[in-house]
Amino acid sequence: MSSLTQHKYLPSFHHQVCTKGRLVHRIRVYCSTNTTTTSTAVKSKTNVNQLIIEPKLAKPPIKVVTDANHPRDSDTSLQSTWSHRAWVAVGCTTLLISLGESIKGSVDMNMWVEPILAGWVGYILADLGSGVYHWSIDNYGDGSTPLVGAQIEAFQGHHKWPWTITRRQFANNLHSLARMVTFVVLPIDLVFHDPIFQSFVAVCAGCIMFSQQFHAWAHGTKSRLPPLVVALQESGVLVSRSQHSAHHRPPYNNNYCIVSGVWNDVLDKSKFFEAMEMILYFKLGVRPRSWSEPASEWIEEIEIASQSQVQ
Ligand SMILES: [Zn+2]
Ligand SMILES: [Zn+2]
Repeated sequence: MSSLTQHKYLPSFHHQVCTKGRLVHRIRVYCSTNTTTTSTAVKSKTNVNQLIIEPKLAKPPIKVVTDANHPRDSDTSLQSTWSHRAWVAVGCTTLLISLGESIKGSVDMNMWVEPILAGWVGYILADLGSGVYHWSIDNYGDGSTPLVGAQIEAFQGHHKWPWTITRRQFANNLHSLARMVTFVVLPIDLVFHDPIFQSFVAVCAGCIMFSQQFHAWAHGTKSRLPPLVVALQESGVLVSRSQHSAHHRPPYNNNYCIVSGVWNDVLDKSKFFEAMEMILYFKLGVRPRSWSEPASEWIEEIEIASQSQVQ
C-alpha cells in the first residue's frame, strides 16, 4: 500500500478464463478498485466508536465460474408458467378497466386535456416509483423479507447475471409486478370513477407493471431489438441501454429508474438515495448493500459466448 495524501481509486480488471471442453468457456470480469490511504485515515478506522460511512474498497477474490452456479437457457426459473401468465392477464385486465373508465368518463364529460395531463404525470411518477422501489430492494432485505423476498433475490441474481433477463420469458418477468398492480388497482377500479384519476392510475400502474419489460429491453442488443423499441430508447421515452448499463458498473449505486430514466440524473446528482441511506442508517442502524461493495453479489459474471451487450 503506497502512501498518498488522499484516496485514489485505480480501476482494474481481472479476467479469468475457465475452460471445460471448449476453447474459451466463460470469463468472469471484476471491476474493482485499489485503495491507498493516509496514515491518518488508517488511524481513524481504529476508532470503533467513530461512524465509518466510507465503503471498504477491497479487491474481490477471483472465482472460477462453474456450470452449476448460474441460470442456463433451459432453466425453468426463466420460463413462464400458467400461473405467471394468469397474473399478467389479470394485471392487464385491471389496467384496461382503469383505462376504459378514464376514456368513458372523458367522453361523457367531453374532457380530454385533464385526463391526458394526468396520464403524463402518471408516466413521469412511474419512473420515480420504479427507481425508489429498485433502490430499496437492491439495498435492503433478503430472501426472507415478507412479500418482496422473492423480488429481492431476483434482483440480486440480476446483478450477478444481468444478461439472463433477456432470456427470461415475458410473463415470468412481469408476473410479480402484475400481481402487485392487481391488488392495488382492482380496488381503485371498483371505488373511483373519476376519468382524470383513472387516467393517472392506468398509465402509472401500467408503466410500473411493464417496467421489467423496459428493463429487459435496456439489456438487449441494439441489432436484436425491434426498431420501435430502439427509437423509444434513443428518444428518452424508455430507459436507454447506455443509461442502465451504468447501473451495472461500480459503484453500483445509481441509475435505479427503469421506466424512462428521466429521474436518474436528478436523483443521482442530488444524492437523493445517499441521503435516504444516511437517514435510514442513523434512524434504524441498517447499512445499504451498496456501502459494502464490491461484494460478490454485485459483480457481473459475463458469458462471452452468448453475452447480451449493451450498445
Ligand atoms: Zn439493481
Ligand atoms: Zn439491469
